[in-house]
Amino acid sequence: MGKLIFILVDALGFDVATKHFGFLEHMAETGQAAKYRLYGELPSLSRPMYETLLTGLPVWQHGITANEVCRKSRVENIFSMTRKASLTNACAGYSWLLELYGDRSLPFDLYRDRYCLDGSGDIMHGIFYCSDDYPDSHLYSDAEFLRRQYKPDFLMIHPMGVDFAGHRFTALSKEYAMQAAHSCVQIATQWENWVRDGYQIVVTGDHGMDHLGLHEGNEPIQRETPLYIISDRVKYGDFSGGEPVLTSLDVCPLLCALLNIPTVPGMIKTKVLFRGN
Ligand SMILES: [Zn+2]
Repeated sequence: MGKLIFILVDALGFDVATKHFGFLEHMAETGQAAKYRLYGELPSLSRPMYETLLTGLPVWQHGITANEVCRKSRVENIFSMTRKASLTNACAGYSWLLELYGDRSLPFDLYRDRYCLDGSGDIMHGIFYCSDDYPDSHLYSDAEFLRRQYKPDFLMIHPMGVDFAGHRFTALSKEYAMQAAHSCVQIATQWENWVRDGYQIVVTGDHGMDHLGLHEGNEPIQRETPLYIISDRVKYGDFSGGEPVLTSLDVCPLLCALLNIPTVPGMIKTKVLFRGN
């Protein structure tokens, strides 16, 4: 059984993580984690990339082409796949994740939909927020409640503070850097508990942020995110400077491999380096 925590730090660009994700950089530097450079699919927007990261499909295939496309996912995703495999899943994240994978009518209603426990949609147990300035510390606390209460095989944690600071102050700002550092501190403080309870950990971003405080387009600072993996299934080290070059399409098949569940047609075979290969 491979239990897994998947942390999607919204708007975590590759450079800001390298500069300010001290704990995970330490783990990669000392051979306790894998680090890759992940080249994001386009458009470098949140809702399209949530669907790409969680289904393994490009935007033209899954059809979530813009943030404004507010509908449920029509394809297999990591939540539907874990449910079908009789695994327990849970999610603490932004309201758009409930809109994509939940059992509630659209759009998200904060006063009705914040707590979706024992849901019948693809997400089984969820706590959701819709204010972009919702504190990351409280979001990690929501996730920890779900983890302790439901002992999920797959737990997704999705903080928005980095994206909020990036839009407000740009990728050049102290505020963006501080939010990234803060998110890594949350991971560092929880890491020992997670590993003790048998969890593998995957951390990445959905897109980056540019010097105007924007993301959507086709340039490295908007597209490149880090991918950190803590799992004894993968080779450890910093692979971010060369081969293999990963994209957003590598993430869902990676999650499937770590959870020991089959991928579905349309997904690529992940280029992450596994031990014994
Ligand atoms: Zn954004």
